[in-house]
Amino acid sequence: MTALVPTIGLEVHCQLNTVSKMFCACPITYRAAPNSAVCPVCLGHPGALPVVNDHAVALAVRAGLAVGCTINDASVFSRKHYFYPDLPKGYQITQFDKPICSGGALHILVDGSRHRFEIERIHLEEDAGKLTHHDDHSLIDFNRGGTPLVEVVGRPDLSSADAAEAWMRMLHRVMVTAGVTLGDMEKGHFRCDANVSLAPKGGPLGARVELKNINSFRFLNRAINHEIARQREILGQGGRIDQTTRGWADGESHPMRSKEDAADYRYFPCPDLGPLPVTEADHISAEAALEATPLDRYLLDQDDADFSDFQSRYGLSKADAMALRGEAHFRAHFEQAVAEGGAPKDISNWVLGAFARWSNAHPSETALISPADTVSLVSMIDVGTITRDVAKAVFEILCQEGGDAQSVIASRGWSRLDDTEAIAVAVDAVLAAHPAELARCVAGESKLMGFFIGAVMREFQGRADAKTVRALLLQALSKASVAG
Ligand SMILES: [Zn+2]
Repeated sequence: MTALVPTIGLEVHCQLNTVSKMFCACPITYRAAPNSAVCPVCLGHPGALPVVNDHAVALAVRAGLAVGCTINDASVFSRKHYFYPDLPKGYQITQFDKPICSGGALHILVDGSRHRFEIERIHLEEDAGKLTHHDDHSLIDFNRGGTPLVEVVGRPDLSSADAAEAWMRMLHRVMVTAGVTLGDMEKGHFRCDANVSLAPKGGPLGARVELKNINSFRFLNRAINHEIARQREILGQGGRIDQTTRGWADGESHPMRSKEDAADYRYFPCPDLGPLPVTEADHISAEAALEATPLDRYLLDQDDADFSDFQSRYGLSKADAMALRGEAHFRAHFEQAVAEGGAPKDISNWVLGAFARWSNAHPSETALISPADTVSLVSMIDVGTITRDVAKAVFEILCQEGGDAQSVIASRGWSRLDDTEAIAVAVDAVLAAHPAELARCVAGESKLMGFFIGAVMREFQGRADAKTVRALLLQALSKASVAG
């Protein structure tokens, strides 16, 4: 069987940062009592007429310029008909065949190099109300109904969950940097639908499944990988994929409805609203609000400059610099520890070693160790106050419980053991306990040195100085070989 390759296209609903709704003066609010920020227009009362929010249009123009779209001078609002309890008019006002922006592209890093992905269109529309489902009833709040959105539609050119995640992250960064949206994903300001299909390489596209309303970058990645695996399994068994919409919750996807085609919605131009003009002044003010156009390439250039600066300032290898910049808390801990006087190479090793291990093992917790304590642990190893093994144990305790290195070491009696006599006694005891290994070692099997050093270190829970242990072992072994 030919290998199946995934094709992924993303569509993002992005809430515009306006004070009022798309077609009425009702406020955009999260704290108001349910159904208090409403009026005849957003409730769809007969005879109520929509009036376009100029600021929403200005932000849509800005969104388009930020990703290199062509701004259409006369776009058209259409009605999209369907029934749902959160849509009192029985249709949503959106844009269909004449959107406000078309064309454009988003540049992202895939496997370390820049790739360009086309954007098909950006259109303006209004949000629906919000339904919440309870055991035996559902509640509806129309405060959200009529909130202005842009929908950004990417071409289905992505071929992995990682690339899709990078695309969504970059679009979010661009739209937030441009001031188009506040981008609070918890509040649903930025929600992604992912279309996923599988087909033999080079062949026609397979039936696509739409994953709805994903409001987290990581969930998007997981949901897409899950969907690719699901389709691969069905197709591998000779099954068929139906064009459907699926929801994603708790690490599983579930079917919602069979997916409609555009024709099902009976789009037609909204008779209440004429063509939407975009003027030269709109272009000028949108460009003035942007640091650069297109914004994605500007941000990537900035990243490159920042990377070179970071790498050369600290004299790091490319791999270390990339790993440290990969997680905001790694970079923050590293930079603060270096500012506290740590040597960049040592601190980088600790952050990418012990600190990263602890963070990966405790994904939902924050490491409590202070950058100053990372520096003091490194210097205590250097001057010989503690051994490396003890430093690792202290580091873990500080990550988990906080506090300071000195008191953790003092309270547990973990300072390095300098008692040469005690170490010599332990060395003799270990050799006496392993006569066979001793004989082999004396006969020239030098790799057994490591075995003996480990056994002695265990006697002191890692607190003995490995150099002293080694020197005393060599002394004892030469005595044994003379005696033998
Ligand atoms: Zn209203």
